[in-house]
Amino acid sequence: MARTIFERRRYEKEYYQKNRERLRKRQSFYYHSNLEYRKKAIERAIRSRRRCWENFKIKRLELISKLGGKCEKCGFDNPIALQFHHKLMDGRAKKRSQMYEKAFLADIEKNILDIQLLCANCHIILHGELKNG
Ligand SMILES: [Zn+2]
Ligand SMILES: [Zn+2]
Repeated sequence: MARTIFERRRYEKEYYQKNRERLRKRQSFYYHSNLEYRKKAIERAIRSRRRCWENFKIKRLELISKLGGKCEKCGFDNPIALQFHHKLMDGRAKKRSQMYEKAFLADIEKNILDIQLLCANCHIILHGELKNG
């Protein structure tokens, strides 16, 4: 009897949910006792991380060009050193780990009218002024 891929997926999902604890234990045992498996799992994680990072870079460049592609203060235009300054809520410093998350860019995009594109230099100076001013 041939099952469709959807039926099979659902079956697998249900099976997983029913046997979650047991499967997790077995997987963890397998993971820790099998070097090849562990290597593959790590490679998989790295690949997916890299894909995420590539997507992040593309999206980031897209937003930079949407914002004019250069520092609003001095005109510096190398995207590597361009940063997003949030005019309203920039003080709430985001954790560095969040920088790579899709959510970070989605947030920039959503608030694009409140975002100022600055080079790292001008950004640091501006924040220094905001803090002291
Ligand atoms: Zn600048
Ligand atoms: Zn800022």
